[in-house]
Amino acid sequence: MHNGQFKFVPANRPAHDKQPATFQELEAMELYCPKCGRAVPVRKFLLLVLPEGDKYEYRCKFCGTKVGNKTDHSGQFYGILKG
Ligand SMILES: [Zn+2]
Repeated sequence: MHNGQFKFVPANRPAHDKQPATFQELEAMELYCPKCGRAVPVRKFLLLVLPEGDKYEYRCKFCGTKVGNKTDHSGQFYGILKG
């Protein structure tokens, strides 16, 4: 007695159901690189640790050209916890 027991199989199921886990990184972002002439994935470099925040630099993943920078103001709280 298989009363009401039926399976629903979705038709549009992809054959290769791989999840791109490596693309889910925290700093996954793209910036325009003038040398490559397009938006490129960038690497984040810590330049300076200042009292007002940590200074970061973004460089092109392919050619290493500096494409941007940023000051992270959350860094100041770590100084208190250190020691
Ligand atoms: Zn580049």
